[in-house]
Amino acid sequence: RGDSHVADRQVDSVCPYCGVGCQLTYHIKDDEILFVEGRDGPSNHNRLCVKGRFGFDYPRHAARLTTPLIRRAGVAKGLDPDFDPAQPLSHFREASWEEALDAAAGGLTALKAERGPAALAGFGSAKCSNEEAWLFQKLVRTGFGSNNVDHCTRLCHASSVAALMECIGSGAVTASFMQAEQADVVILTGCNPTVNHPVAATFFKQAAKRGTKLIVIDPRGQALGAYAHQTLRFTPGSDVSLFNAMLNVIVSEGLYDQSYIDAHTEGFEALKAHVAEMTPEAMAPACGVSAEEIRQVAREYATAERAMIFWGMGISQHTHGTDNARCLISLALACGHTGRPGTGLHPLRGQNNVQGASDAGLIPMVMPDYQPVSDAQVRSAFEELWNTELDPEPGLTVVEIMDAVHAGTIRGMYIQGENPAMSDPDLDHARAALAKLEHLVVQDLFVTETAQFADVILPASAWPEKDGSVTNTNRQVQMGRAAMPLPGDAKPDWWIIQEIARRFGLAWDYGHPREVFAEMQRGMPSLDHISWERLEREDSVTYPCPADDAPGADVVFSDAFPTASGRARFSPTVPLPPDEPIDGDYPTVLTTGRQLEHWHTGSMTRRAKVLDDLEPEAVASLSPGELRRLGLQPGDALTITTRRGSITLGARADMLMPDGMVFVPFCYAEAAANVLTNPALDPYGKIPEFKYAACRLTAAAAT
Ligand code: SF4
Repeated sequence: RGDSHVADRQVDSVCPYCGVGCQLTYHIKDDEILFVEGRDGPSNHNRLCVKGRFGFDYPRHAARLTTPLIRRAGVAKGLDPDFDPAQPLSHFREASWEEALDAAAGGLTALKAERGPAALAGFGSAKCSNEEAWLFQKLVRTGFGSNNVDHCTRLCHASSVAALMECIGSGAVTASFMQAEQADVVILTGCNPTVNHPVAATFFKQAAKRGTKLIVIDPRGQALGAYAHQTLRFTPGSDVSLFNAMLNVIVSEGLYDQSYIDAHTEGFEALKAHVAEMTPEAMAPACGVSAEEIRQVAREYATAERAMIFWGMGISQHTHGTDNARCLISLALACGHTGRPGTGLHPLRGQNNVQGASDAGLIPMVMPDYQPVSDAQVRSAFEELWNTELDPEPGLTVVEIMDAVHAGTIRGMYIQGENPAMSDPDLDHARAALAKLEHLVVQDLFVTETAQFADVILPASAWPEKDGSVTNTNRQVQMGRAAMPLPGDAKPDWWIIQEIARRFGLAWDYGHPREVFAEMQRGMPSLDHISWERLEREDSVTYPCPADDAPGADVVFSDAFPTASGRARFSPTVPLPPDEPIDGDYPTVLTTGRQLEHWHTGSMTRRAKVLDDLEPEAVASLSPGELRRLGLQPGDALTITTRRGSITLGARADMLMPDGMVFVPFCYAEAAANVLTNPALDPYGKIPEFKYAACRLTAAAAT
């Protein structure tokens, strides 16, 4: 390598992609990132996956926004197939920050004055820092005047959090994924860590090599199956039946931990009675696995000295997602598998800061640290902290906000770093809502699909350009550091939010994210003993943390749960079918998710050269048998149709797919998976059923 490849400085930070939270070092020359290396962080031990290692050049993509933009008069809102996000001046004109901020805030304040606080809503971002999430929800609550603030947790683990809050009084994991190495049995269900949490998957593989029995429970096969002691590939949507049958085995065979149940839980007798009839023999036909397999898995988990359950969006993204998580919690409580090393419940969080953004209050029904907005004492504490009055009514969630736009209730929105024109279910409905908004402000790195509906676009900061903390799936609060300057006229997100807040008449005067973090510590007990200075020094501190000089707790709830009684609660569940079962017209199950190389709606990774080179085109994965049935060869065009729309994309043979199912990643705008998905919501977590929709497959030429 010549001198042009020798870095002149290094900056330590954290990966901007998934909730594993790998620590990394940017190697920089002339203010540009040359390459990235993993650091010895607690959740990665120097490892990085392909996204962390190669997905660093998106901030300098030619389409990067560097100037505020205002929609040109007369240009209709919507997705124009001829629009080039890298050449936005056909639809938008450049503006100074002063003009753009006045226009952005002016449209929102006018709607508030005319229609009241309920006319506005905001989506914050799990890709931004904790400090930015705090400021965004504070702006909506104290400036907009309502709790209409949400973010992608609603599309991710809202149902898991609802179940965890109800049953154990805390929405975060009870133990880190590193604890898997101390477990005798690990259940992985509704998750595909090799693809979605790749470095966490390395911990599971190592655990398996050391003797931990991995049990993989999922309709689809996966790479970790090669390390599994047992796999259960059950019928999609039958999760609650399967888990209740496991509970039946544990109850009927007396495998539960009575002393743990007596000391730490309530409601077990009701659960026992509830599952009495749900024998493996009764439930197995619906689950598509044998009764004996269900018995084996239940026995392995229950009789292990130490066991953990990890789950992902295969559990949460169902209309019965909260019930799924309730079942997993019941399994752990019945067997006493929490509160000790090598035991625990762990919903693998998706985005790099979805845990932190949720903790910081980007949720419509709770203030920071999950304190209910409906609780007068909670409101009073925040009213004192912020010197304002707060709305006692919980706000609307992501999908409800889009419905409220259609209903004419919500007229204006501020969307920071989210892309609902790609990520919401039933996209035609969501996009029509965005087009209907009287005023939309989008703050992002690129003219995303959502920004194409905006009145004002504010050019924001990419992760390698900002200082800020993020919180990963393990409850580790970690320090990110700016590695390179902002391009052109782009600004830090916290600065932009503050400028909007000032135009709402709020006297904000933050000079740096550390000042925001100090305020967060005053409102969030979870951050006790985790100062900004400590994060700068130590890079990562786990919450809860008992003292300024003590490490945080990797495993929690050894003595008591944070509930009113100090006990965890069993919550019995009734199996329900998916909202839209397959039928003769739509005989195939559609499921959606991420790819290893691409992140969510693709706004970053599809602009990272190596990642885009690896996976440049939209593909749908099917079993070889399904391909044969359709008369297709791999690479042929496939049309997928649901009751909401259709898309056409390339077909890929995947030996790990079951017959009767198709998987589509949701990152490709040219074949947007969410055109197809069902917006039906879980009644508790308000999460859509992304993991199951009835569809019809046809060879594209035959349509
Ligand atoms: Fe980044 Fe997640 Fe990959 Fe780690 S595992 S490098 S956090 S995307």
